[in-house]
Amino acid sequence: MQFIDQARISLQAGRGGDGIAAFRREKYVPAGGPSGGDGGRGGDVWLEADPNLQTLLDFKYKRLFAADDGRRGGPNKATGASGSPLVIKVPCGTEVRDARTHILLGDLTEKDQRLLVAVGGRGGLGNAHYLSNRNRAPEKFTEGRDGEEWLLQLELKLLAEVGIIGLPNAGKSTLISVLSSARPKIADYPFTTLVPNLGVVRRPSGDGTVFADIPGLIAGAAQGAGLGHDFLRHIQRTRLLIHLVDASSENVLHDFQVVQQELAAYGNGLDERPCLVALNKTELLLEDELEERIQQVSDHCGQPVLDISAATSKNLDQLLAKVWKELGV
Ligand code: GDP
Ligand code: MG
Repeated sequence: MQFIDQARISLQAGRGGDGIAAFRREKYVPAGGPSGGDGGRGGDVWLEADPNLQTLLDFKYKRLFAADDGRRGGPNKATGASGSPLVIKVPCGTEVRDARTHILLGDLTEKDQRLLVAVGGRGGLGNAHYLSNRNRAPEKFTEGRDGEEWLLQLELKLLAEVGIIGLPNAGKSTLISVLSSARPKIADYPFTTLVPNLGVVRRPSGDGTVFADIPGLIAGAAQGAGLGHDFLRHIQRTRLLIHLVDASSENVLHDFQVVQQELAAYGNGLDERPCLVALNKTELLLEDELEERIQQVSDHCGQPVLDISAATSKNLDQLLAKVWKELGV
């Protein structure tokens, strides 16, 4: 099972500056020769792997990138300034394809690795180049060339850092959809109606963290009942779990324990993974009732239990603050 983030971006390298036609005009030099300078080169566009990025989230918002154009040539054979190159940061592990042909152009795996993706246009020639014995005063100059233009497809295999566990109906999918700013794709997934939900949640530093909800975590999942096992394997790579319990259930403690037992049965240290516990749908309960249930679960698990509502967004900021703290971001 793989989670895949995809983005399409459109790149435009800078146009070359035009050459110009000019003639020397100096005191005491009656008929100055041609002195038009060349245009500067257009800026190139590069992609660069940056280990601080985890997702392609930023490309959901910005898809068009253009490097600077080169400047026109000047008199006295002055070459115009080149356009500065544009360097676009992408996460390590980003595959770059031509969006039209799907041909792989590169795979940015190492920190600071760069890929030239659009070449800037050549600057035009000034008339100084066209001086010859036959033509002592050429007017000819050439225009700069357009920079390359590309439509690229970026692809990144994502790792879910936060797994949301809980019985069916606890509100896992709802929570993810409320928290996330983007929904990546799930690839290579066996034909089934049970699909994990994914969301990229923007963290304070700007980049995203992938949350995955783990459906089908029912009694017996660890033995391979349903699809639980496949999901468990995936959450094994998460760094933090959020255990969501439906506060309006008849027996919240029992619900909590069923899921904990599954985790323990799966082994692989999953039950020792840092885990935040939250009661969801708490807006449905009266205050006393809620307090009692929170107390019950927190006595059992020996840690504070959050009181949230995915439906009304109650205390979701607090939940996220705890998540970022646990992840150290
Ligand atoms: P999942 O099976 O854990 O993914 O649960 P879902 O996200 O599909 O939610 C199950 C049901 O609970 C849906 O009808 C949701 O609309 C509802 N639900 C989720 N969160 C809340 C909440 O905070 N309050 C209330 N009242 N309903 C909620
Ligand atoms: Mg669901």
